Amino acid sequence: PGLVVAIDGTSGSGKSSTSRGVATRLGLRYLDTGAMFRAMTWWMLQHGVDVHDPAAVAARVEEPSIASGTDPQAPTIAVDDADVAGPIRSDAVNAAVSPVSAVPAVRSRLLRLQREVIAAAGDGIVVEGRDIGSVVAPDAPVKVYLSADPAARAARRAAEVGAADVAATRESLLARDRIDSGRATAPLVMADGAVHIDTTPYSLDEVIGLVVDLVEA
Ligand code: C5P
Repeated sequence: PGLVVAIDGTSGSGKSSTSRGVATRLGLRYLDTGAMFRAMTWWMLQHGVDVHDPAAVAARVEEPSIASGTDPQAPTIAVDDADVAGPIRSDAVNAAVSPVSAVPAVRSRLLRLQREVIAAAGDGIVVEGRDIGSVVAPDAPVKVYLSADPAARAARRAAEVGAADVAATRESLLARDRIDSGRATAPLVMADGAVHIDTTPYSLDEVIGLVVDLVEA
């Protein structure tokens, strides 16, 4: 297996832009595991599953086929062969993804898929999520934990998605962090051996440079 760079952190801390930038600079593949949890959640909503009923979610977890494209310059996410890159960023998915991701059967199904993608990645891959350094790839030689001020995160995310309401964006990010950090299975934690970078004072290029330096050290 190739090199794995594990990038975890809070919602809106800059994980995706950083991970894609690092993968592009180092010629590695890129996996957005959050997109996989979002795709699972989107499928549950489409199929009328009560996302607040863990048993109902667990009962359907093997049904969707979820495929991730790992080009860092053009990542893709498909469910049952349909491109869902747009719909997985909706408010409905934002509100439902953390409860769905807390269901152990969801995590074990997606863990299998994530390990398959990592095994197929050749030279190496940058993997971003919440439990990459702790659960998905605990042996990764480079682990990074990104965080940022809630105000900075909300302003960045609102600008990305063109949301007018920065306060609502902030509440949505913080609500996900609370559930993601408090769940029993694979909570968001700083993994053993992770380097913590608070991205608040840095530009994106600076954060990418810091992570590339860790990989090349
Ligand atoms: O990274 P992103 O914000 O798109 O992730 C959406 C949600 O997916 C997170 O809030 C979390 O509930 C879930 N997730 C997870 N484990 C991961 C990646 C994402 O539980 N490795």
